[in-house]
Amino acid sequence: MKTGTSGDVRRACAKFLDAASAFYDVPFCGIRVLSARPLRVRERGTFELFGDYTPETMLIRAWMRTAVRKEITSFGTFLSTLCHEFCHHLDFQKFGFEDSWHTRGFYERAAVLYHHARGTPIKTLFWVPVAGGRWRIDWQRTNRSGKTSR
Ligand SMILES: [Zn+2]
Repeated sequence: MKTGTSGDVRRACAKFLDAASAFYDVPFCGIRVLSARPLRVRERGTFELFGDYTPETMLIRAWMRTAVRKEITSFGTFLSTLCHEFCHHLDFQKFGFEDSWHTRGFYERAAVLYHHARGTPIKTLFWVPVAGGRWRIDWQRTNRSGKTSR
């Protein structure tokens, strides 16, 4: 990632996604690694600043660089984007959902995949209710408790 070679990154992503797809027994999904994120991509959540997933084509796109400053995304952010987008794939292909929503369960699944992939301990996610019946992750509490949880 540091040298900015998207071909190598794409191959590593494809290997990871193939292994995950085989494990979950779902069809393989495609991956395109792109450089600078276009500005028209909307920021929908903390984990989705740099990727998207199209259910019709089963294609994940991940951007390696930030839109404005063209800086290379950190490894952790990039991997967490990949896990997030793969969980959209799972929603359709594994669970047969008609749509893939950013529910609390969705973030729990994405977090489990991420920590398993990195070999880091799983953190218990703490949630705070916000307006409109929605929830957001309480990162302060989540990170504080993370050190001692399983
Ligand atoms: Zn998403």
